[in-house]
This record gives sequence, C-alpha cells and structure tokens, in this order.
Amino acid sequence: MHRDAIVIGGSFAGLSAAMYIARALRSVAVLDTGLPRNRFADHSHGFFGQDGGVPGEMLARAREQVAAYPTVSFIEERAVAAEKQGDGFAVRLANGDVLEASRLVLATKYQGKFGEAHNALMTHVGRLTTSTIDETLTAAGIDVARAKDDLETHKAEIEALLVRNNEQAEGLGFNSTPSFIVGTFRIPGVMKPELFKLAIADARAKAKQESKAKAAPKAKSKPKAAPKTKEAPAK
Ligand SMILES: Cc1cc2nc3c(=O)[nH]c(=O)nc-3n(C[C@H](O)[C@H](O)[C@H](O)COP(=O)(O)OP(=O)(O)OC[C@H]3O[C@@H](n4cnc5c(N)ncnc54)[C@H](O)[C@@H]3O)c2cc1C
Repeated sequence: MHRDAIVIGGSFAGLSAAMYIARALRSVAVLDTGLPRNRFADHSHGFFGQDGGVPGEMLARAREQVAAYPTVSFIEERAVAAEKQGDGFAVRLANGDVLEASRLVLATKYQGKFGEAHNALMTHVGRLTTSTIDETLTAAGIDVARAKDDLETHKAEIEALLVRNNEQAEGLGFNSTPSFIVGTFRIPGVMKPELFKLAIADARAKAKQESKAKAAPKAKSKPKAAPKTKEAPAK
C-alpha cells in the first residue's frame, strides 16, 4: 500500500510527527509495536502541561487525537527494513512472511488444495517463517514445489487478489490476520474462545431483537385488515 509518509514508532515522537503530516493533508501510516520505553513508569514529569500524567493515558489520548485525522492509519507491526524504491521507499514488515504465506496459499488453488492450505496455516500455532510455512503445507498434503511454480506463473492474478483483499480489509478497519466479523461486531485479531462465544451470543441476541422489532409493525397492520373481512358479508 502506498502512503506519503510512513512513521516507524507510534509513541511520543512518532505520534507528534504523524499529527503534523496529517494536518498537512498527507497520508501517513504509523507502524508501532506498542513498547514505549517509559512503559514501566507510573507517572511522567516535566512534560509541558502534563506534569504528573500517566504515560499510558497520555499516549492513548494522543493516539486518539491523531487517529481522528482521516489520512492516518495505524499498523501494529514491526518494521524490519526500508529500502529506496523508485522515487520513494518501501518498508518491509516483520509479517512479510505472512504475506508470502498468503500468496502461497492462493497459489494452491491451482492444485485444488486451497481449503487444506488455508486451514493448515490458519490453525498453525506460532510464528510463520519460510521454513514453518513449507513444513506446515507439506504436512497438509500440499505439493509446495508446485505451489511455488504456480505462484510464479499466476503472479499478476494473485497480486491483484491480494490488493483487492487488502482494500476490503482496510475498508473494514482490519489490520491483522485473522480478523472476524460476528454479526455487526468487528473483531481484529485472535480472541480467547470464551470471549468469542460471548461475542457470538451478543450478536445473536442483537439479531433476535432486531427481527422482533421488524416484526412488530406487521403485527400492528393485521387489525387494520380485519374490518374489511367483517364488512364483506354485509355487501
Ligand atoms: C523509566 C523512564 C521514565 C521516564 N520518565 C520521563 C518523565 O518523567 N518525563 C519525560 O519527559 N520523559 C521521561 N522519560 C523519557 C521518555 O519516555 C522518552 O523521552 C519518550 O518515551 C521518547 O519517545 P519516543 O517516541 O522517541 O520513543 P518511545 O517512547 O521509546 O517509543 C518508541 C516506539 O516505537 C516502537 N518501535 C520501535 N521499533 C519499532 C519498529 N522497528 N517497528 C515498529 N515500531 C517500533 C516501540 O514499540 C515504541 O512504541 C522516561 C523514560 C524512561 C525509560
């Protein structure tokens, strides 16, 4: 994805920079791993207008204010490299392997194994690296060498699909995999099973309430029709 600026680190310095970039109506992505160095301090001192403030709260407020600018997006990922590309820069994220895994999974459809590959990597516990991706897919019965060939052959098609998926994910406000929609709730990232069940129960209760509310006016309209049938014999 393209941005006018990419800020690496979304703490005091990074958020200040992002705020000014956004105020200049430029698009900016803030990459952050959420580990500000003063996270161990209960209170902060000497910061203009915020003496005695709680660092976590100060950051949360700043992040909220920066997020209010529509040209800002946050990505909770670690930047591992940046290199010049054309007249801009490309920043590689630690989840680059995840992107490679997505490409490979899409390529398995050419051997009719998309479902198996998708399930194998989605249920994989632990970090995905080039070797764990290959091992996991092989264990699920996928011909990895063929998938890599297919990836080369159908590169343009697969990239276009990833761009489309990415745009849809951004539109929904997702920035991690997996992410879920349960009813009208948005769940970015992995959640404990009991919280998942709670979200499903809430979504079902909400859906029930909504369908009851929809059904209510229909029930009211029935008595209106009744006089007509009563009048009929008199005619
Ligand atoms: C114990 C302690 C107490 C302090 N008390 C005070 C105080 O009372 N008053 C005061 O004014 N200052 C205080 N400071 C100093 C203050 O914390 C720093 O000046 C301030 O945090 C610096 O902000 P920063 O944005 O430059 O860096 P940090 O706050 O360190 O933020 C860096 C951010 O970048 C992220 N990051 C790093 N690498 C990557 C990467 N490759 N990709 C993506 N994200 C990345 C990190 O996760 C982090 O969120 C204290 C510091 C410490 C350690």
